[in-house]
Amino acid sequence: MESSGHSDGSFKIPNIRFTKLFINGEFVDAVSGNTFETIDPRTGETITRVAEGDKEDIDLAVKAARDAFDNGEWPRMSGYERGRMIMKYADLVEENIEELAALDAIDAGMLFRTGKTANIHLCSHLLRYYAGAADKIHGETLKMSGEFQGYTLREPIGVVGHIIPWNFPSGMFFIKAAPALAAGCTMIVKPAEQTPLSALFCAHLAKLAGIPDGVINVVNGFGPKAGAAISSHMDIDKVSFTGSTEVGRLVMQAAAQSNLKVVSLELGGKSPVIIFDDADVDMAVDGEMCIAGSRVYVQEGIYDRFVQKAAEKAKAWVVGDPFDPLTLQGPQADKKQFDKILSYIEHGKREGATLLTGGKACSEKGYYIEPTIFTDVKEDMLIVKDEIFGPVMSLMKFKTVEEAIKRANSTRYGLAAGIVTNNLNTVNRVSRSIRAGIIWVNCYLVLSGDFPFGGYKMSGFGKDMGMQALEKYLHVKSVVTPIYHSPW
Ligand code: ADP
Repeated sequence: MESSGHSDGSFKIPNIRFTKLFINGEFVDAVSGNTFETIDPRTGETITRVAEGDKEDIDLAVKAARDAFDNGEWPRMSGYERGRMIMKYADLVEENIEELAALDAIDAGMLFRTGKTANIHLCSHLLRYYAGAADKIHGETLKMSGEFQGYTLREPIGVVGHIIPWNFPSGMFFIKAAPALAAGCTMIVKPAEQTPLSALFCAHLAKLAGIPDGVINVVNGFGPKAGAAISSHMDIDKVSFTGSTEVGRLVMQAAAQSNLKVVSLELGGKSPVIIFDDADVDMAVDGEMCIAGSRVYVQEGIYDRFVQKAAEKAKAWVVGDPFDPLTLQGPQADKKQFDKILSYIEHGKREGATLLTGGKACSEKGYYIEPTIFTDVKEDMLIVKDEIFGPVMSLMKFKTVEEAIKRANSTRYGLAAGIVTNNLNTVNRVSRSIRAGIIWVNCYLVLSGDFPFGGYKMSGFGKDMGMQALEKYLHVKSVVTPIYHSPW
């Protein structure tokens, strides 16, 4: 295990400029005046304190969003005009890529390099993708039986509450906000309490882009208070949630018990990766290490070689400061997650899995964990059943394609899956047999704004990204008229 040390000094971490709530186009304190600290996972120290929103602040944000929706220009302007403004927003995001990536690095521990390239490009791509779609939202003309004809209108669904997690803060902000903006919705975004900083910066950029006041509101705060105030609000038309399956269930319950708002849930996963005998072992191991596939099934012919190479690779893996260009893995996002991962590792050991590499924290301060690989893992162990969301991989051996499919599907989740093989028949068969929302073949975790992403089974419902996500923010209305004359 090597540690890459600290920042190479080539990038200056920006001053934190935005720490309040963003409501109706202004940065404001919480009604209560309360604040909470956001922590740098590299050190465990406080970065700054941010305003802590609660029910009263959500009420104010909903009032602003409601007014912007019911009376404002945003849902009424042409799709073309909305698209132009969203394009401007995309330009500003791109111009500020470094600051956005830096905020995610200090707040969530995401690699600065990755943030600048893949993730932040996803953000501006999402904005441009949906900006281009904003003037292509239209209904159909229908000839009805009898003497009536009609047409459908596709209208924005209204005021949307987005509740998002810490694992990908700025990306998640745009995954939710970009299609909702294009549809003509107004919104309240509640970032995860661990990672409020980039959402506030994104709100500032929206203002600079000319997005009208009240269209985007950001209320930082804790899940059971600010989050629950969104899911149970009587004046929010839709809630779009990404996070754990447990909290997704609470969100859906609150939505049902309040005003039956429309719900979409993007929840946990325990995604399998299946590596077949014909795969190039070096490439497969490289790929695996980058993504830390959590349930890795390796066919028996290459299993031993795979295990040996994976161990070598893990030992040379560079865990360290997310600003260091050599770092391959940064810290975990917060202390809670760090403790949770370590306790799963202990559980794995107690349940009798063999620890091949890693297994412990690897720094005196901050939330760094060694890349951890278990072998001799059984399907009923907790480390195979639960989502861990950390650098913990379980390697398992299989014999036949049927067995791989059966074991890959033996989970309550269905978010994603990976297949590594050069056999086209295997690709076709396995990708159709696995019950998951996205299948990566000879690649993994490739995300793009134009591909729908979202789970099967207890990984949720309703897609993010792609044209399907735009549909989530639209209602269809039928308008019916007599063809020749009114019968009345
Ligand atoms: P994780 O376990 O990955 O931290 P959570 O599901 O707890 O994910 O959190 C995802 C988002 O849901 C965060 O923004 C969090 O504040 C919010 N949240 C947590 N509890 C609730 C709740 N009871 N109601 C609404 N939102 C919540």
